[in-house]
Amino acid sequence: MSLVIIGSVAFDAIETPFGKTDKIVGGAATYASLAASYFYKKVKIVGVVGEDFHQEDIQNFNNHGINTEGLQIKKGEKSFFWSGKYHNDMNSRDTLITELNVLGDFDPIIPESYQDCEFLMLGNLTPQVQQTVIDRMKKRPKLIVLDTMNFWMDIALDDLLSVIKNIDVLTINDAEARQLSGEYSLVKAAKKIMAMGPKYLIIKKGEHGALLFNEDLIFSAPALPLADVFDPTGAGDTFAGGFIGYLAQVDTINFNNMKNAIIFGSALASFCVEKFGTERLINLKQDEIKARVEQFVKLSSFTIEK
Ligand code: AMP
Repeated sequence: MSLVIIGSVAFDAIETPFGKTDKIVGGAATYASLAASYFYKKVKIVGVVGEDFHQEDIQNFNNHGINTEGLQIKKGEKSFFWSGKYHNDMNSRDTLITELNVLGDFDPIIPESYQDCEFLMLGNLTPQVQQTVIDRMKKRPKLIVLDTMNFWMDIALDDLLSVIKNIDVLTINDAEARQLSGEYSLVKAAKKIMAMGPKYLIIKKGEHGALLFNEDLIFSAPALPLADVFDPTGAGDTFAGGFIGYLAQVDTINFNNMKNAIIFGSALASFCVEKFGTERLINLKQDEIKARVEQFVKLSSFTIEK
C-alpha cells in the first residue's frame, strides 16, 4: 500500500512584504509530499524536473522517506519556474512569471513499484494530466483527492468536469467553488459540485479555515490565527498533503476521520507559512505537530452551561 502524489516540482522566486528569495525549491508536489511524510511512511512522488534541479534537493525528499522513482529528470531542460509577489494583506498575490519548461509536455510515468497505490493525490496540474495518472493506475486507488484552481476552470473546463467525475475528494477555494457551481451560497455550491462526481468537497477559505461537505453533513474547521504570516506559498498544497497523509495513516475513510485529517492538514499549513518556501516543513518534530493540533482543538471547543 502506498500514497502517490503528483504535481509540480519547481523553482520559485517569492516576494513578500518581509523579504525576497532567489530561486528556491517549491511546487505543489513538493509541499504536499513533505507534509504527508510526517504522517505516512510510503509516500511516492510523480513529477518532472530539469537538469538544473540539484541532487541534494532530491536527497531532501529521500531523507523524508519519499520515493522519487517517478520523478523524471529531463537532460538539457529547465525545471518549471514560478515567481509571485504578495500584497500587504498576504492573502492576495500577483503571479510575475510562469515558465512551464519541462511541465509543458509532461507525460507522467507511473513506475511498476507505484502500482500498490491506495491513496492518490492529484496536485494542481492540467486536468488532462491528472486524468492520465488515474488511467495509468492498474487498480483504482481507494481514495483519489484532486486539487485544482480557477485557471483550469477558465481554460479547460470540459477536461476538468470529466476528471472530477472520477475522484472522491475535491479541494478548491471559496471563489473557485462559486465559479465552478455558479452559486454564491457555499452550501448550494457544494450540493451542485458533489453532483458532478466527488463524494466529499473541501472548500478552503484561507485565514478563515475550511469547510468539509459530504451528503448533508458539514464540518467547519478553523484556521489558527497566527501573529506572523511570513510566506503563504504552498499552504494549500501542504494542507492537502497533510490531509491525505493522515488518512493514509488511519486507513479508514469516513466523515470523522476526514474531519481530523482537515485539522492535521491545517496544522501543517500553519507551519508552512511561518518561513519562506519549504524551510519550516523540512525539519518539523512530531511533538511540535502534536502541540499545534492541540491548539486547534482548544481554539474551537466550548461547553454550554445548563
Ligand atoms: P499555492 O500557494 O498552494 O497556490 O502553491 C504554490 C506552488 O504552486 C508554488 O510552489 C508553485 O511552484 C506552484 N505553481 C504555481 N503555478 C503553477 C501552475 N500553473 N502549475 C503547477 N504548479 C504551479
